[in-house]
Amino acid sequence: MNILILGSGGREHALAWKIAASPLTDKLYCAPGNAGIAQQAECVSLDLSDHRSVTAFAMDKRIDLVVVGPEVPLCAGIVDDLEAAGIKAFGPTKWAARLEGSKGFTKDLCKANSIPTAAYERFKGAGAAKEYVRKKGAPIVVKADGLAAGKGVVVAETVQEAEAAIDMMFGGGLGTPAWEIVIEECLIGEEASFFALCDGETAIALASAQDHKRVGDGDKGPNTGGMGAYSPAPIMTEDMSRRVMDEIIHPTVRALKHAGAPYKGVLFAGLMITKKGPQLIEYNVRFGDPETQVLMLRLTSDLVPALLAARDGQLKNMDLRWSPDAALIVVMAANGYPGNYDKGSIIEGLADAAQVEGVEIFQAGTPGESGKIVANGGRVLNVCARGKTVREAQNRAYAAVDRIRWPGGFCRRDIGWRAIEREK
Ligand code: AMP
Repeated sequence: MNILILGSGGREHALAWKIAASPLTDKLYCAPGNAGIAQQAECVSLDLSDHRSVTAFAMDKRIDLVVVGPEVPLCAGIVDDLEAAGIKAFGPTKWAARLEGSKGFTKDLCKANSIPTAAYERFKGAGAAKEYVRKKGAPIVVKADGLAAGKGVVVAETVQEAEAAIDMMFGGGLGTPAWEIVIEECLIGEEASFFALCDGETAIALASAQDHKRVGDGDKGPNTGGMGAYSPAPIMTEDMSRRVMDEIIHPTVRALKHAGAPYKGVLFAGLMITKKGPQLIEYNVRFGDPETQVLMLRLTSDLVPALLAARDGQLKNMDLRWSPDAALIVVMAANGYPGNYDKGSIIEGLADAAQVEGVEIFQAGTPGESGKIVANGGRVLNVCARGKTVREAQNRAYAAVDRIRWPGGFCRRDIGWRAIEREK
């Protein structure tokens, strides 16, 4: 098969690494890719917002399957456009991608189908929103509708903080003024990421993971896209995973099928495991970053037939195997991230670091072909490791980190702490 991956991050590097290892893959392309991905795939500079040129490229190269990484092209309907041209694409349609693109859509779907999620209201104006906040009290969560690259959520500790968030979102503080916000109950519990592969009718569970969103050790400091993760998430026992499938994933897939817009692709549920059980915080309509990197390290089955089966409505017959080992990822970011960060610093020592047992290194913010590795993004390197335990995976990952020479970058030193406490 000729396969084209769309995207340029660590998630896409991990997908490229796994897909390149499949005996089904003849030729692998990635657009736009990065210096790390260039080791596994031919990188092509395509603008992912230009669906016509992506489609033309796929036709020209006789691509058998397009795997879409990021949410922005999915929400813009790239799967619809590729499929309309007769090209198989893995991922949801524009309509179904609203599960990530619109928080109001998802909350209403949960309410209509009794899917456990935080109690909420939708607002189009600041006055009524503030009144609701004053009535409910704090802590309370304020969310802007639409894609906001992880910045559209404020967990307010006080009513004043919630009111300021409402003004900020309606006032354009996120770039453009929010057209709608959702205000919801603050859930208390432990967060976990859960992934399922869906073919429009059938959903099968992938592995679980937990990530670290804060920039600093001890989960302190501002939120980021993710500074590390590990899989499996100890809190996601077999019983809890079954409950998530029965109470959240299956009802969602059924609801979208009945609405005439079957969901195909990866469904990534952000969960809060509360005393009452699992509650849905949000859906994402694609593989998570950095969770995908650890998932790919643990997946022993071939990924390509699973992606094809999801696209073709054949998941019923699919059974995926996972290594019982743990996997852990440490994200290395450019100094200054998640604020303004430096660009252009040189990274050395990657080959030496990759020699540590069980280690794979994926790249994110490193444009261009392989050769000299130049940091050009916020989150730049993904140092991943397998181990019999999370502790062993962590030791290996940090042994590799210590071999990397990059004065322009930093990482957290405590990724996996919660799971390691449990292992003790
Ligand atoms: P989201 O972009 O919806 O995943 O939200 C980002 C983060 O905000 C989540 O990972 C949670 O840590 C937090 N969050 C969102 N909604 C809630 C909620 N209802 N209760 C508690 N925390 C929340």
